[in-house]
Amino acid sequence: MAEAAPLRIVIVGGGTAGWMAAAALSKLLPARDYTLTLIESDEIGTVGVGEATLPHIKVFNDTLGIDEAQFMRETQASLKVGIEFVGWDRPGDRYVHPFGTFGEPWAGIDFQHHWARAKAAGCDVGELHDYSFAIAACRNNAFELPNEDPKSIRSTYAYAYHFDAGLYAAFLRRWSIARGVERIEGKVVDVARDASSGHVASVTLESGAVIEGDLFIDCSGFRSLLVGQTMDTAWCDWSHWLPCDRAFAVPSLRTEPLLPFTRATAQEAGWTWRIGLQHRTGNGHVFCSSFTDEDRARDVLLGALDAAPLGEPRMLRFQAGRRAAAWAGNCVAIGLASGFLEPLESTSIFLIQAAVMDLINLMPTRRSGIDPRLAAEFNRLFEVHYDRSRDFIVLHYLANRREGALWDHVRNMELPDGLAHKIALFEASAAAPDYRYGLFSRDSWLAVLVGQGILPNAHSLLAEAIPLAELEAQLADLKYRIDVNAADMTRHGDFIRSYCPAPALEPAA
Ligand SMILES: Cc1cc2nc3c(=O)[nH]c(=O)nc-3n(C[C@H](O)[C@H](O)[C@H](O)COP(=O)(O)OP(=O)(O)OC[C@H]3O[C@@H](n4cnc5c(N)ncnc54)[C@H](O)[C@@H]3O)c2cc1C
Repeated sequence: MAEAAPLRIVIVGGGTAGWMAAAALSKLLPARDYTLTLIESDEIGTVGVGEATLPHIKVFNDTLGIDEAQFMRETQASLKVGIEFVGWDRPGDRYVHPFGTFGEPWAGIDFQHHWARAKAAGCDVGELHDYSFAIAACRNNAFELPNEDPKSIRSTYAYAYHFDAGLYAAFLRRWSIARGVERIEGKVVDVARDASSGHVASVTLESGAVIEGDLFIDCSGFRSLLVGQTMDTAWCDWSHWLPCDRAFAVPSLRTEPLLPFTRATAQEAGWTWRIGLQHRTGNGHVFCSSFTDEDRARDVLLGALDAAPLGEPRMLRFQAGRRAAAWAGNCVAIGLASGFLEPLESTSIFLIQAAVMDLINLMPTRRSGIDPRLAAEFNRLFEVHYDRSRDFIVLHYLANRREGALWDHVRNMELPDGLAHKIALFEASAAAPDYRYGLFSRDSWLAVLVGQGILPNAHSLLAEAIPLAELEAQLADLKYRIDVNAADMTRHGDFIRSYCPAPALEPAA
């Protein structure tokens, strides 16, 4: 039997989404059955932000076989074990969402029940956030690779990276081209569709070149050239839950110490981010144009910097939401082409990774063709990922005690059903069910629920199995182990200098 010709995959767009897709597909798909072409336009460029990640990215890099220290050197990366939220309940308060667990599940029940029980009994056991090793590391500006012994308190966290978005895309580009991805520079100016199926048959570049394909991956950013513009897939607007619609971004000079966490600070009509890299600090102000004006928003960003800016702030516009479907016909949108959630919890690059891996698992073959059942399953997973991430981000806003029109608005808005249920369940019982799939874990929910001042009014009776005095002693011992071990850790800056020092680089504005 004659061998089927390879399936031609065309990726439109060479930002983080395009090159993550190209890298994973070139590594994991059999080269004999697929060809990979990526089109990117130097003239249009990339969005140029997206520098804070979640721990899943390490799994992605490990799957590709990327050497961690080399990758970190080439992208001026630093490490993070959590995200610090400053002023999200009231100005001046702060808490960390750690990439790690709270306590230990004693007597077969989740830790928060023990903590809630001891609190309810009037014991002086401190805050939930005192029982996280990752938070203790953040407080000490410390980092070490997690211990591999699961019994060690030093194994109870994961980590992610901050990296330079431009250098990351360049790193993946080199990596992918070395593995056979064909890169074409040029601007897509026309899209041709098959008259009977409606599938995209080819794209035409400004040069006149026509690139044909069987499957098109739309990584064209906010333009959403194929799934949005060509296939006209509906947009689900979430701006009633997440009204911020603009951001100013600007890099600044690097400062000491190099923090092992991303910082998100609430502001009068939005929030600012701070991401420390080896060669510079990335900063931005996400804000809502209905509640402030652009000049004021720019001033708020510049006023929040802790070092001199390296250039003029650049403004980006967006709307929170997602496509009703990311896979339409023979086009699959990944990255900003598929949707947008403000970067409060560093979710976007995770959403790219999830979509790339889901696509690989559901990848059509030349023989199967574009089976609509594959698309339906991909779209189901896409919805789950996006909607769960959205609920978690909305959670940060709703319980605030801040002043200002934005904060009043989000305090009084009607919540998505699933989110309202999760909060009510936690308040009534301290229960925080874990998702078996996707973001975010129970410990992440606990960090933000309690961090925002949403507290349980009751706990599981299973927690009463431990006599109270014994529980207090266990809690004190746990806290002691956390504090002693965290005090002994290497400073983050020292770790970076010994593990993956990046070459000195003029930071680009
Ligand atoms: C303010 C802000 C802050 C963010 N911060 C974070 C963060 O901290 N963490 C995180 O995970 N995510 C963050 N994100 C999201 C993150 O930036 C994106 O998810 C990520 O960069 C992927 O972008 P992309 O590749 O989808 O799009 P882009 O980077 O915009 O790339 C689009 C590509 O398509 C090409 N293209 C477009 N039209 C054409 C055409 N006609 N012909 C040829 N090529 C074309 C462009 O040239 C480019 O190569 C942030 C986003 C914003 C707006």
